[in-house]
Amino acid sequence: MLLVENLSVNYGKIEALREVSLQIEKGEIVALIGANGAGKTTLLRTLSGLITPRSGRIDYLGREITRLPSDRRVREGIAQVPEGRGLFATLTVEDNLLLGAYTRKNPKEILHDLEEIYGRFPILKEKRKVFAGTLSGGQQQMVAVGRALMCRPRLLLLDEPGMGLAPVIVDEIFGTLGRLRDEGTTIFLVEQNAHLALGSSDRAYVLENGRIVREGPSQELLDDDSVKEAYLGG
Ligand code: ATP
Repeated sequence: MLLVENLSVNYGKIEALREVSLQIEKGEIVALIGANGAGKTTLLRTLSGLITPRSGRIDYLGREITRLPSDRRVREGIAQVPEGRGLFATLTVEDNLLLGAYTRKNPKEILHDLEEIYGRFPILKEKRKVFAGTLSGGQQQMVAVGRALMCRPRLLLLDEPGMGLAPVIVDEIFGTLGRLRDEGTTIFLVEQNAHLALGSSDRAYVLENGRIVREGPSQELLDDDSVKEAYLGG
């Protein structure tokens, strides 16, 4: 589904990503773990087209998209749930969700998908007329995921979906991601909480100082001594 080859990104003189290569197959949950400042958000924003790489190449469904604008990538089925969720605090829950469908035209289909999201997250139906900014963190994360789903993504990119949320809410969000995967959506998620990321993904990559230093099945990385020491508290 996604093939990344030798991707390098600079911010001025800072090398944020160096020759990053990775591959994501259809129907997988792939996690990217790494410390603060490792370059995780930079990689995600490059995949969604918000940052242009200095060099390297991104292929999606067998076609090069390295320089495709981000709105075109959304149309092709790549949706991002950004760090901090990026909701419009003074719009209602429903308007935030509908904004996710901005690339689509068929009102009947859009309303159908809206109902499907309310089926997934019933609390959002109750709160649909409420300003998004007044929701709890967990409910806001549900809106952010729901909004991304409104473009019917094939590939969902998530930046720290568990950040700042109570464990029970984190379980709910990751449970939803597991169901989406089972229904055929491919998921790439960035997560500083390595326990959570490795415990809920099929495969993972470890990013250090802008370079991929490890990759493998998540269960193998969970059992790996050097990963345990560096990312799982020993
Ligand atoms: P975090 O977990 O803190 O979000 P991260 O792994 O997502 O970290 P990035 O945010 O991608 O890391 O940052 C990678 C490096 O690039 C860091 O050294 C950071 O300071 C630098 N950086 C990020 N954004 C910019 C920017 N807009 N301008 C200059 N440097 C930046």
